[in-house]
Amino acid sequence: MKYLDEYRDAELVKNVLIKIRQTAKRHWTIMEICGGQTHAIMRYGIDQLLPDEIELVHGPGCPVCVTPLELIDKALAIAARPEVIFCSYGDMLRVPGSGRDLFSVKAGGGDVRVVYTPLDAVELAKNNPDKEVVFFAIGFETTAPANVMSVLQARQLGLSNYSILVSHVRVPPAMHAILSSPVNRVQGFLLAGHVCAVMGYHEYPELSDEFKVPMSVTGFEPLDIVEGILRTVQLLEAGRVEVINAYSRAVTFEGNQPAQKTIARVFEECDRKWRGIGTIPMSGWKLRSEFEAFDAEKKFDVGSIQSEESPLCMAGMILQGLARPQDCPAFGEACTPEHPLGATMVSSEGACAAYYRYGRLEAAPAEGT
Ligand code: SF4
Repeated sequence: MKYLDEYRDAELVKNVLIKIRQTAKRHWTIMEICGGQTHAIMRYGIDQLLPDEIELVHGPGCPVCVTPLELIDKALAIAARPEVIFCSYGDMLRVPGSGRDLFSVKAGGGDVRVVYTPLDAVELAKNNPDKEVVFFAIGFETTAPANVMSVLQARQLGLSNYSILVSHVRVPPAMHAILSSPVNRVQGFLLAGHVCAVMGYHEYPELSDEFKVPMSVTGFEPLDIVEGILRTVQLLEAGRVEVINAYSRAVTFEGNQPAQKTIARVFEECDRKWRGIGTIPMSGWKLRSEFEAFDAEKKFDVGSIQSEESPLCMAGMILQGLARPQDCPAFGEACTPEHPLGATMVSSEGACAAYYRYGRLEAAPAEGT
């Protein structure tokens, strides 16, 4: 398949790996920010092919993993209401809330449906005027354009029975929080290619400069990922603080400006809680007051629900690159994809699920051993 097979060519990947070996002279800790990249790294064994000098840690880029527990509890409360058709992407259905998940609500008679786009949910609202249709609008910058379009379309159609439960997060403030931590270990970043396809990468040079950390915009195929790692290692070894684009077939500096304008028309920035990490200032989006009629949290009065994280789950440490899944005592024992204790084991993009699925079950050796 054009634009895919050539980026999975084993010989080309090997050549780049040789260059990484030749370039890396010191130990470097590099974070891939996106859960899709984490999954690809595990799937293709890229972490095992890198020289010992390069340590990959996995960032908070899995939207399901960082959706706060209380938002899931709010979703469960709304979905259980008899007048509601609750729509979500499939991977949210098994994410545990404090007591149960959306599958359990469905098994108990709730009308919970999997959709492939929020526009399907708008169509449901149009065809079911006696029902309230709610879409669970989670994700990063990547999913925001479709979610805001659904609100604009619902308004254009005059639908008063459509709303979205918003849990949108933004990548740059999360990176700022990671880099600001006194225990931060990250020295270079692979930027999420699909987020940059929407937003461009003009937001990152300031961040890179402030913390003296180089960054490479990186794609998702094996060749994209090793190329992003190589470019980052070259910058690190040369002591250069820059943001470069190693995914130029999909990303420009400015990004998709019509999409950015549409997002800004419907959403405004707000503080947002990240599961396992806590509140990060101005790290999310919420509906502007002009669109509050489409805000499910206000419509169903679930704003007061508060939830506590399980003390057993250390996903927050993993999402900040401070621990690996094998460091968690529950990993592969009390916590498996069949019986997940935390969201990073449920989501297909979660680091714990990726390590479990691709057999990284042994404890990682301590650095320097
Ligand atoms: S293995 Fe399970 S309990 Fe441990 S951090 Fe991962 S999701 Fe949480």
